[in-house]
Amino acid sequence: MLVVMQSHATEEQVRAVCECIESLGLRAHPIPGVARTAIGITGNRGEVDTGALESMPGVAECIPVSKPYKLVSREAKQENTVVRIPTPCGEVTLGDRAVAVIAGPCAVETREQAFAIAERVKAAGARLFRGGAYKPRTSPYSFQGLREAGLKILAEVRDTFGLGIVTEAIDNESLDLVENYADVIQIGARNMQNFSLLKRAGRALKPVLLKRGMSATLDEFLMAAEYVLSEGNYQVILCERGVRTFADHTRNTLDLSVIPAAQRLSHLPIVVDPSHGTGRRNKVLPLSRAAVAVGADGILVEVHNDPARALSDGPQSILPEEFEQLVRETGAIAAVLGRTLN
Ligand code: PEP
Ligand code: MN
Repeated sequence: MLVVMQSHATEEQVRAVCECIESLGLRAHPIPGVARTAIGITGNRGEVDTGALESMPGVAECIPVSKPYKLVSREAKQENTVVRIPTPCGEVTLGDRAVAVIAGPCAVETREQAFAIAERVKAAGARLFRGGAYKPRTSPYSFQGLREAGLKILAEVRDTFGLGIVTEAIDNESLDLVENYADVIQIGARNMQNFSLLKRAGRALKPVLLKRGMSATLDEFLMAAEYVLSEGNYQVILCERGVRTFADHTRNTLDLSVIPAAQRLSHLPIVVDPSHGTGRRNKVLPLSRAAVAVGADGILVEVHNDPARALSDGPQSILPEEFEQLVRETGAIAAVLGRTLN
């Protein structure tokens, strides 16, 4: 259920409606929009009796939300959510006309490695740096990440190069630490349905980049985002990173058709990760171009200065010079669409 406030409704009127909703044992989620504020109601098992709410001052109407993802849905909020990431080199936004570029290694391996890559991606125009300190690996014997030592290196990258930091939390314990160091908390594909982690991310005070599970439908993906919003964190960026199919020419099948589909159903920004989406270095550039052409709000790519010796995901990591080309070409495509690279 959604309580739509009149465009001239005051803050006190919005607050009074929220209090009324909470007094019914339900949860109120004010969703400010450009034209008007809507208040999402969750926690009800059956229909909400809207009698009392409808007659409150400032209320325009009460409308049912047909989708199971109440807060993530465009029914709840028509205009795009703009996620704002403050970084030392200014605010990076996702969900507006700018296309964000997030680049860096799969994993932070050493200070030298992270610095060498950060220097190059920054020079090429990136403002957000990615790099895992906690790595969810298929094998327990593979490199698991430098953990807090990796987060400390990322903090140094932030201070030295002015880049915003995107890094993954793999469980509630790591999320406590990641929240302190990162500008954006990444939730990986394998954790898309780790509901306790999603709820914890929903209580975090930093934006969340939520990757699509490798066999998740769009509805499941949006429901996972709903977990984060339902706990109060509305700063969520969706990320398509490829799904499992029978195709064996790539590691995953990058589902670019999910971009317009998600944008139709949800107001949240969505970015594309062509690195995990293909698993092959030579496919990252063409699919980055395609991602911008299809209307993605950003791209997330793995870049390594010595991919042959990378401790994870070397085969899909592009070289810094390839990243420079990627920025040039995706920037040209963005310009055709009246957008800019961020
Ligand atoms: C990553 O970004 O390095 C990663 C582990 O991605 P995913 O969760 O999409 O596999
Ligand atoms: Mn990776």
